[in-house]
Amino acid sequence: MKTLLKNLTVIPVTRDSLSFNADILISGSVIEEIGPGLVCPEADVVRDCTGLIALPGFVNAHTHLSMTLMRNYKDTCSNLQDWLGEIFPIEDRMTDEDIYYGSLLGLAELIKSGTTSFADMYFHQWMTARACRETGMRAFISQTLFGDLEETKKRLSETRLDREIDNELLRKDYAVHAVYTCTKETYEYTAAAARERKAVVNTHLSETKKEMDDCLRQTGMLPAVYLEKTGFFDVPCYAAHGVWLQEEETEILRCHDVGIVHNPSSNCKLASGIAPVSRFKSAGLTVGLGTDGASSNNNLSMLKEMRLAAMISAVSTMNVGALRPYDIIRMATLDSAKVLKADHLIGSLEKGKKADIAIINPDSANMTPMNDIFSAIVFSADERNIDSVYVNGKCLFCEGKLTTIDEDAVIHEALKRWDILRKEG
Ligand SMILES: [Zn+2]
Repeated sequence: MKTLLKNLTVIPVTRDSLSFNADILISGSVIEEIGPGLVCPEADVVRDCTGLIALPGFVNAHTHLSMTLMRNYKDTCSNLQDWLGEIFPIEDRMTDEDIYYGSLLGLAELIKSGTTSFADMYFHQWMTARACRETGMRAFISQTLFGDLEETKKRLSETRLDREIDNELLRKDYAVHAVYTCTKETYEYTAAAARERKAVVNTHLSETKKEMDDCLRQTGMLPAVYLEKTGFFDVPCYAAHGVWLQEEETEILRCHDVGIVHNPSSNCKLASGIAPVSRFKSAGLTVGLGTDGASSNNNLSMLKEMRLAAMISAVSTMNVGALRPYDIIRMATLDSAKVLKADHLIGSLEKGKKADIAIINPDSANMTPMNDIFSAIVFSADERNIDSVYVNGKCLFCEGKLTTIDEDAVIHEALKRWDILRKEG
């Protein structure tokens, strides 16, 4: 299958400049060529995209997809720990079907807001993998490891995810939840298991001040210092949040090439704090962007996440230029892909990379006039401006419709599942 997209403005994210009147030729799952005046007589589809903007699809580097079911639930909890106290009992009751419909609901939202891949840490992940397979979405999926070594071994022996993940769009990662829910042995054992399978690991790290203070009191070490001793950073690793990371820890992460996923909405909503992204970048860390779960955000839109990331960067540094709009777009695409160790495949629009593409239509009041295209995307665009979305060369959203998800049916089922879950409590 060959698709030729004609006359686009292309933001390749390999550099902070644009290509005007460029064409993109998609061959199967990859970008075969980008440039002006491309001709392909054997193309199956030729689309005139005059007036539209193409950029790499957003890479949501940290979420918990099926938490969509708990959207807007218990929003008045005063902090992360109190909120988790409300959420954990519901998670214990969730079934395969809940995860499946919660995942489809999340996928519909991700795709419609221009996201083409995501990293997911949760439970019953074979059902999230199944939802991705059926939808044609790219994902980096981890079954969350939780608790002590015995529980970890039990969870790691689960083979259902391995069966569902056997697909070129999906990668299995290993996630240990956090230092405050897991033992040292869990981190050590998971690192060894991941190393043996040449897998990538991830965790929540230094999300709250309480996490940092408790870790210091219990182990005498800051969270990243403690995790380095477990060998967790000796395998390819990414970490979510990093709000309270100290300079000593930043240096450890840099030495081990551990990227940080910035989750500004979740960190603001749960009053966890503001991650010092500019300091991380100056220290040589790669910083990607993620939405976290829809129950701590309360949506999965990378457009909204970019806007907030820009806003809180400015106000927390008192410097509008600390992160430029282009830096924010890069954080949501190529840098997220780098954090996930997947930038050889995705994150930029380049010949030979996977055809994961978001196309924006700026022909609307909220994006007029554009003046600066990067600013317009970060500050003015919203989900209504997403024209179409391609994942692995396949169009998953076009003409206002998802091509592989029956959105009405999914909303109906998700509401049914949540109603049962809520009443069981
Ligand atoms: Zn999270």
